[in-house]
Amino acid sequence: VSRLLLPAGWEIPCWESQAAPGPGCQPTVIQPRWRGQDQDGAYRGACHECGWIGEVVASENAAAEHANDHAHPGWRELPVLTGYRYDDLKLMARLARELAPAFPVGWAERCGPVITWRTPPGTRHVPGHGLFGGYCMGRARPGAPAEHSAPATVVTTQLDLFG
Ligand SMILES: [Zn+2]
Repeated sequence: VSRLLLPAGWEIPCWESQAAPGPGCQPTVIQPRWRGQDQDGAYRGACHECGWIGEVVASENAAAEHANDHAHPGWRELPVLTGYRYDDLKLMARLARELAPAFPVGWAERCGPVITWRTPPGTRHVPGHGLFGGYCMGRARPGAPAEHSAPATVVTTQLDLFG
């Protein structure tokens, strides 16, 4: 279900979440339906539940960050996880089970995002591939050149997920 009323000329691109994956405010990203050839990207965060729509920003990642700030405040302080393969559903299910207690109460049930270490330029925030059904937010590995990555805040925990 989505209660999002799109502004005229905007759409949810096919790769973003089309409906809320869980209860409460749920993030997505919208973009202009048509792009001029010379236009840079334009994106806005949005919310399936309450219809919130963020300001226009130049990157999909920035819009996804705004949308997750709106729907899942506190996500930026989450522990950063080792990356995992999105096609290994068994591993993802196990990680979700084992790691849920390390997240805020209700995070898994609300389909809150997770953050994984990435090597630029692979820092895209990927909708629907978080361990709990929300976004898998990318964060550049320490020492990697920063680009469109979530700012590193607080001390992050490196968990050995594959041990
Ligand atoms: Zn909302």
